[in-house]
Amino acid sequence: MRTYLVTGIGRGIGQALARVLLQRGDRVVGTLRDLSQSQPEWREFIAGGQLRLLALDVRDFSSIRKAAASFDEPIDVLVNNAGVIGPPRQSTLDMDFEGFLETLDINTLGPLRIVHAFLPQLRRAKAAKIITISSRMGSLSHAKSDRIAYRASKAAVNKVTQGLATDLYAEGIVAVSVHPGWVQTDMGGSSADIAVEESAAGLIRLIDGLTMDKTGSFFDWTGAEIPF
Ligand code: NDP
Repeated sequence: MRTYLVTGIGRGIGQALARVLLQRGDRVVGTLRDLSQSQPEWREFIAGGQLRLLALDVRDFSSIRKAAASFDEPIDVLVNNAGVIGPPRQSTLDMDFEGFLETLDINTLGPLRIVHAFLPQLRRAKAAKIITISSRMGSLSHAKSDRIAYRASKAAVNKVTQGLATDLYAEGIVAVSVHPGWVQTDMGGSSADIAVEESAAGLIRLIDGLTMDKTGSFFDWTGAEIPF
């Protein structure tokens, strides 16, 4: 039984990841902004100690530190999943600047805040893994210009991943970015390519197989390496 910290398990990909991990017997520490998002199906896992819910907002360092202080056990895998698509107006020539900043705050700074707060628990695991759910839309090799705030936030979080991979290498902690596919969620919409279950299954297969020689890379949910 391994312990997975997954941010944003109230819906979408985070919820599907939590479901698969719980069903296969792993332990999940799941974060929600609002604990009332807890699902009826989770009751037995909570009662049995397999699921622990922590309230935090990735923009709010004090809520993250408080959550981290309340979980004093090793964490084997951190999945930085929580994220937003950003404001309706986010083209270079028509930009909602406040919305751009908020997008960076959540998608780029949020994952690093989580790493900072939970690093002691990650260090106590044998070979911890940090997986940040990024997006192919953040790839610098794509010249597309729609949703620039979102793309920039994901490109920037990929740089954070590379930095973490370098800075945590000596401690044997793996850090990678992952594109989950175009997934049917509130964010991805109903016409997206794949169901959350397919994305979650692929992501977990990928996480299971991650070794230190893969640190600092960018993968998609099928396990294929993709360019930053
Ligand atoms: P959803 O919009 O369905 O869910 C987003 C999750 O992030 C929710 O749990 C939400 O919590 C949480 N969240 C948002 N803001 C914050 C915050 N400030 N603090 C804490 N939690 C927050 O999105 P998906 O499940 O589709 O996306 C999950 C990840 O996958 C994101 O990082 C996204 O960028 C990435 N991704 C998704 C793709 C897709 O096609 N769906 C494609 C590529 C990448 P709450 O319910 O409280 O709002």
